Amino acid sequence: MLLYILLCLEIALRVAIEVRERRLTQLRGGVFAVLRLIPLVNDIVPLPENRREPQKTQFVEKHEEGHRVLRHSILRNLMKVAFLMVAVWFLAAMVTRWNSSFFEAILWLHLVAIPFRYFFNWYCWTQEFEADAYAFKEVGKQKAKAAMQELAECEIPYTKFFASIYREHPTVALRSQRMLKKVVGGR
Ligand SMILES: [Zn+2]
Repeated sequence: MLLYILLCLEIALRVAIEVRERRLTQLRGGVFAVLRLIPLVNDIVPLPENRREPQKTQFVEKHEEGHRVLRHSILRNLMKVAFLMVAVWFLAAMVTRWNSSFFEAILWLHLVAIPFRYFFNWYCWTQEFEADAYAFKEVGKQKAKAAMQELAECEIPYTKFFASIYREHPTVALRSQRMLKKVVGGR
């Protein structure tokens, strides 16, 4: 019973987030916005981030180099493996110790994973800020600013709040604020 109350609560909260986002960005969410409301489905729905692919500027190249030098993908993957292991343990415990059905165990996992996903996004954001700081040091302020303007034009605007829940990448507005102490694009 508790499980289904929590799932209804999740849907209600996601509807509220979606309505807020549509109101603030004045952009339509399309079919993905509907899919984001449905538990389990919303775990696999992709979030489009760009209208068109940004140019490979020197800043972008140095940003990628920053990820490599700082070994970000290894750390990210280690964290994913750790989450996966805990998830498998959780499912096994639900089914064997607490006698829940496999389907209900999956639904519980979906619910308890929500704060972990939020934490994972936050961790990814810190990596992006680190890679930005690396690139900024390499190419200088002028090129960093130009790159942020280019990225802002390519980006689909999301609010900070929405991005913190659904995006693995911080918005250009947040990145430029962090790096240039000035907001470029976004809202
Ligand atoms: Zn990056």
